[in-house]
Formats: sequence, C-alpha cells, structure tokens
Amino acid sequence: MNLLLFGAPGSGKGTQAERLRDRLSLQHVSTGDLLRDAVARGTELGKKVEGIMAAGELVSDEIVLELIREAVENVRADDTKKGWILDGYPRTMVQAKELNGLLTDIGEAIDCVVVLEVDRDAVISRLSSRRSCPECKAVYNVLNKPPAVEGKCDKCGGGLVHRKDDQPETIANRLDVFQDQTAPILDFYEDKVALHRIDGNMPVDDVTAAIERQVQ
Ligand code: AMP
Repeated sequence: MNLLLFGAPGSGKGTQAERLRDRLSLQHVSTGDLLRDAVARGTELGKKVEGIMAAGELVSDEIVLELIREAVENVRADDTKKGWILDGYPRTMVQAKELNGLLTDIGEAIDCVVVLEVDRDAVISRLSSRRSCPECKAVYNVLNKPPAVEGKCDKCGGGLVHRKDDQPETIANRLDVFQDQTAPILDFYEDKVALHRIDGNMPVDDVTAAIERQVQ
C-alpha cells in the first residue's frame, strides 16, 4: 500500500505516519526529516537548504524529487516493507506531477491520500510548544506531552530542541506556504485516487483509528 499523508505543519502527520508505519509495515518517508538529517550532518545538500528551511520556505522541487526517488527505490528493494507513506511530499503542483511521472516510470501507484485537517490556531499552539529529538525523531509537547526529564528524550536520552522553523515568526509563514502552494494539490488528487479527510483536532488515538478505518 502506498499512501500520501497531507496536512498543514503541526497537523500530526509525523506522529500518525510513525503509527501507521508500524501497524501496516510501511516505510515512513519524510522529506523534512531527510533534509534535517542533511543539515545536521553538514553535507553540501544540508548547507544549501539550511537557511531556506529556517525561514519556513520550500526547498527546490529538484532537490526533493531526488530524495523521493531514492527513498521509493529503496522501499522497492526491501522485502520487509509493504509500501510507503510519504509525509511532506508532494508540496507543490510541480512535485505532484513529478511524483506521478516517477511512479508511472517504475510501475507503482498511490493507493490513497489522507488529509489531516486541523484549525490554524491549534496548529500554532502545537508548533510553539513542540519539542523534537534530532536523534530518534520523537516528538513532545511541553504543554500536554512533556518528556519525563525536561529537555531529554524519553526514548533515547537525546537533547530535545525547539526547531528553528517552529519559532512563532516562522510558523505563520509555513502555514501561508501550505495554504498557497500545497492545499491546491488536493484538487489534483480528488478525482484520481481515494482521498480521505480526517479531523486532526481529535485526540491522537482517535485520529489513528479514523485513518485505519479508511485505509484498510
Ligand atoms: P516538515 O518537517 O515536513 O514540516 O518540513 C520542514 C521543512 O523542510 C519545510 O518547511 C521545507 O523547508 C522543507 N521541505 C520538506 N518537504 C519539502 C518538500 N516536499 N518541498 C520543499 N521543501 C520541503
């Protein structure tokens, strides 16, 4: 099963993707995580995208297409995976069309699109209080899901960070970019694949259950 997970920044895509990955034996592919890894490792790619990401802008379509091509090919070569969940890709109409081209070339298809719908105010509050572990990617919230020891990841002991692009001045820009460039893509998918809109304001377990009901 190949699935696209859509939603504004802070809508819970990463959290839900991790859960679905384990339950459905899918590979979770997050372009944001791949890019953050490149920044953390200080690679050429990382140096190129660091400033763009910190400002909440999108990196170039070419860069993310290459990341996705490699990730999708790796999943094809891995017998333990039954498909993939793309989280944070595509984010522009160009990317949506490039993804279709790539999948047609390799004889694969998108089985369904899941859209997490969350109120703008809720998203701003979630992102402002989100803390992330750069080591194992675990996500916390200082208001309603704090780590046992302040600033330390429960899972791996790594130091938690408040991502540069989760600072208030950047959040608004990321939400605008989502509204202007990413939301219109849904029209493109509406008549091509099964598209499920889920209320992402619900408690996290309810969101997972609602997604599972739709995709199984
Ligand atoms: P995310 O973790 O998905 O919110 O992504 C963090 C940042 O990585 C975004 O604000 C963009 O700067 C960059 N990024 C992630 N995915 C894409 C994409 N598909 N196209 C362009 N930029 C992306």
